[in-house]
Amino acid sequence: MKDLAQHLSTRIIHHDYVAPEGFVAPAIAVHKASTVIFPSIAALRSRQWKDKSGYTYGLHGTPTTFTLEERLCALEGGLQCVLVPSGLAAIANVSLALLKTGDEVLIPDNAYGPNKSMAEATLAQFGIRHVLYDALDVADLAAKITPATRLVWLESPGSVTLEFPDLPEMVRLCRARGVITALDNTWGAGLAFAPFDLSGDGSHDLGVDISIHALTKYPSGGGDVLMGSVMTRSAALHCRIQELHMHLGLGVGANDAEAVLRSLPTIELRYRAHDAAARTLARWLQQQRPVVQVLHPALLGSPGHAHWQALCGAAQGGEGAAAGLFSVVIDTRYSQAQVDAFCDALQLFKIGYSWGGPISLVVPYALDSMRQRPSPQLQPGTVVRFSIGLEAVQDLQRDLTQALEQAFGPL
Ligand SMILES: *Cc1c(COP(=O)(O)O)cnc(C)c1O
Repeated sequence: MKDLAQHLSTRIIHHDYVAPEGFVAPAIAVHKASTVIFPSIAALRSRQWKDKSGYTYGLHGTPTTFTLEERLCALEGGLQCVLVPSGLAAIANVSLALLKTGDEVLIPDNAYGPNKSMAEATLAQFGIRHVLYDALDVADLAAKITPATRLVWLESPGSVTLEFPDLPEMVRLCRARGVITALDNTWGAGLAFAPFDLSGDGSHDLGVDISIHALTKYPSGGGDVLMGSVMTRSAALHCRIQELHMHLGLGVGANDAEAVLRSLPTIELRYRAHDAAARTLARWLQQQRPVVQVLHPALLGSPGHAHWQALCGAAQGGEGAAAGLFSVVIDTRYSQAQVDAFCDALQLFKIGYSWGGPISLVVPYALDSMRQRPSPQLQPGTVVRFSIGLEAVQDLQRDLTQALEQAFGPL
């Protein structure tokens, strides 16, 4: 090599030094690549991009992304995983991989909004029909499955109104009817329940076919990374998802993958802390005059609470597990302007989308424009969603108190 590398520009690229092997550290290295170098043409010809036994091109994986995929499999109990640039890309990857012209997809009416709007705009453009079902009504889902139904989306709970569905019963139904189930598991995060083992006995007798996860939320934990994952326990399903993933060119950056790997060891501790603070504040808000309903699946009386209890109630030594997310319904006697003033008056809570980071967030939602059918389980009023961060819960309660008083008068 020395003989050929005569010029400086060549020598600083093709340098003979190789760092000694045997470096071991807790952190996973950031392996960056578009090009991956093969030792020979024979190796180039024999390596398969679908096969994780080797490397072919940065888009198809590096040691950094493979490691993150495997650790996420450990978190959610999957066998195969692909990483995508956002949670929404994970939803798109599933729907576009599994649906074709003439097919139908069922989506819960309380689903993450962009999943529904993708169906309305993009899937419709390909002649794929979508039908909305009531997440709390298994009979409604059963009635809407037709011979053309290829995919049922599930979300437990809905990410704004937090109704907790009867997930095991819905999965049982879809299995009996031969329909693939895909769960948006961002809320559960692999911690509140095991999506591929809904009977909870390790048998995998009952589980969803696909679990997608917005890693943007708890796995990232910092509000600074966008990423998603699509997980399966079926090589055949994984293959279909992986193929579309490749054709759409959905890779993730190594620095982002490393950021998630760095946060992953603390996810369980953070999830518990978010959960504990959220329950404290949700219970306290139940007592406050302007609030007519608190939507938090771990609270008695919240829609689908019994389903949450059955699926997540045994976690954390019987405390049950839930994310740091809840909504309140503000009484109709208060105007939208007053609700907006309440959100604006909050100081520690910031106004913004997403969740799972250290900062508490608030967003008001206009449910009427978000639902095909109003839910009988929800009280009329204005919905305000809170994502509880990692601040001290007493400070957050003080912030809520001052903002409630400013907007609605003395408590
Ligand atoms: C945030 C979120 C997504 C989308 O994730 P992004 O990374 O923001 O695209 C999907 N589903 C749920 C339930 C979410 O909360």
